[in-house]
Amino acid sequence: MKPYEIWKSITQREMTQDQYNAFWKEYLDKETAIYKEILENEALTLKGSISSLSETFKVEETTFTGFLDGINSSLKHPLALESLETDTPIEGEIDLEALYYNMHDAKAKWLYNLNAWETLLSKETRKSIKNDFRQSVMIKKEDRPGRNDPCHCGSSKKYKKCCLAKDEAADRAAETAD
Ligand SMILES: [Zn+2]
Repeated sequence: MKPYEIWKSITQREMTQDQYNAFWKEYLDKETAIYKEILENEALTLKGSISSLSETFKVEETTFTGFLDGINSSLKHPLALESLETDTPIEGEIDLEALYYNMHDAKAKWLYNLNAWETLLSKETRKSIKNDFRQSVMIKKEDRPGRNDPCHCGSSKKYKKCCLAKDEAADRAAETAD
């Protein structure tokens, strides 16, 4: 199996709630450490391979593949993740503004609040990205179904029994994003 397939199969395997929480906590701690290193050193191009980069960041190849999965939409030219082997050469230039936005979108406060952002993006830029994010949350809000209508995610459950709580959490994250 290719690295991306392995990563997906790990994240999609059957887990109890405790295993799930433990898995993501461990992953997110490692992910945060990688982001810190990249942002603090302004090492804004990921160059090498899954194998060499996982050594650089001292994580397992699967963990680094998960990291790539997360950052891919914030690269100037997203990688063809599915086709990567551990030794396929990769070069991914990080689009800082996209990354900062996507960290808000993922509600990853511990990432968009990293100190390094203060030197990487000006205060005005950060503010305008936050505003764009808030705006997008408001638009999503207007499109939402009523509590008893079918959920907009296509699950065929009622909205209140499905994504309502998640959407409300997103609203709260947007309100406190400053
Ligand atoms: Zn739903």
